[in-house]
Amino acid sequence: MKLNKLKLEVDYFEFDEKYYNKINPTPLKNPKLVSFNPLACDLINLDYEECKTQDFVDFINGSKILEGSTPFAMAYAGHQFGYFVPQLGDGRAINLGSVNNWYLQTKGSGLTRYSRQGDGRAVLRSSIREYLMSEAMFGLGIPTTRALGIIDSDSFAHRDWEEESCAIVLRMSPSWIRVGTFEYFARSRDKETISQLADYVIKQSYPHLENEENKYEKMFYSLTDKTAELLALWQVYGFQHGVMNTDNFSMAGLTIDYGPYAFMDYFEKNSICNHTDAEGRYSYNNQPYVARWNLFALIPTLKLICDESKLESYMKAFLPQHEKIYLDMMNKRLGLDASKSGNSNLNLILELLGSLENAKMDYNVFFYRLTHLKSFEDLSSILDIAVFQEPLKQWFESYKKVCDEQETTFESRFEVMKKVNPKYILKNYILQEAIEKAHDGNYSLVNDLLKIAQNPYDEHPDFERYARQTPMNFANIKLSCSS
Ligand code: AMP
Ligand code: MG
Repeated sequence: MKLNKLKLEVDYFEFDEKYYNKINPTPLKNPKLVSFNPLACDLINLDYEECKTQDFVDFINGSKILEGSTPFAMAYAGHQFGYFVPQLGDGRAINLGSVNNWYLQTKGSGLTRYSRQGDGRAVLRSSIREYLMSEAMFGLGIPTTRALGIIDSDSFAHRDWEEESCAIVLRMSPSWIRVGTFEYFARSRDKETISQLADYVIKQSYPHLENEENKYEKMFYSLTDKTAELLALWQVYGFQHGVMNTDNFSMAGLTIDYGPYAFMDYFEKNSICNHTDAEGRYSYNNQPYVARWNLFALIPTLKLICDESKLESYMKAFLPQHEKIYLDMMNKRLGLDASKSGNSNLNLILELLGSLENAKMDYNVFFYRLTHLKSFEDLSSILDIAVFQEPLKQWFESYKKVCDEQETTFESRFEVMKKVNPKYILKNYILQEAIEKAHDGNYSLVNDLLKIAQNPYDEHPDFERYARQTPMNFANIKLSCSS
């Protein structure tokens, strides 16, 4: 379909005007296309050729408004690092409307009523990170928002004592409603308003519940289930979100708002990727507990329309459910079958995590190399990239025992592992290379990485180097929140 034929629908204006701000984007100077995403085009039936036009750049930049679109920013609240902030909102994101149930939003489009002290902008560095990582998560099968395209510009913003060029990512999601949106609507203390928001979330994300009895409780249960799975997948692949505030927490169970995130390089249980998170509230190991905390934060609002005790009692299943999915997946990553072992090989997996940490071993590279291991006699392909080999050698003794007990072979394990152990994971040092080139006006690596992100199990012969362990001097570095 031609860009001009895309008709956007806005369904948010059913809410009272105090919940949003109709506001036009403020375009950037001299916008230029960095990349567009064909897979996202498919989702909204947009012709790829259209994305090579100036119109497409103007569309992302906000100087071209499509038919049916009335741009607006949403209000929300949120618990940031555990403290309630009553007034947040899209301070730099602007919603354009939906196509095919994909809600389009540009990030970095200028000031809104919710910008507070911010400038309404997003810099190229963080925009490339969001653009590529949402597609990398999709490539790994981890629920996430998506991205249609990204533009760079000759406008500049001040970040960390430097001027950086401004960019805009056009993001797409089945829903942009956050836990923090409920926390904001809670100020009405009005059952009807909260029900209206819950009905909206059900329409977007849980349509099978629309005509059910106790649908609001069931919405919470579904969200809890989805979140348990989401967190299991984050943990399994070593993804750290970095800022799991309730305003960055999706009511649809998706990964949203990519900031100082990281795929951990070498395994470190208490790894903290966000420089601002001095106490490690959002450390890798805390993530499932924080997710549970964030879901609990909904209860004071939802209790106006739900039986509070039912919600609380459902939450008791959150961690066990999360753990079950986590163990199932981790077993697959080892080529094993969780159901064949009484405790789902929990001890073997815990021992592995300890060994990886002591060995200072690249987490995802370990699994990829294990997938391709041909014999227990020669572990060099794995041991050679460990800083300390002994802990892993010991773990292999335990692993070999379980493999024998389960009567698996290298071939049978390979069949299981090849589907869950990707060759490529977009680690921060890789993204950094693409960012540095883009700052020099060369966007080719962003586009190459997009393909790798979306096809992490495939071979990418020109980029073998990115399948190796992260060089130690770039590993597990903390990133700043300023973006
Ligand atoms: P974040 O930590 O990126 O999720 O942002 C928290 C809040 O600050 C959200 O309400 C954002 O919209 C807002 N915000 C972040 N950066 C900016 C900015 N440069 N200009 C305006 N608002 C911003
Ligand atoms: Mg946010």
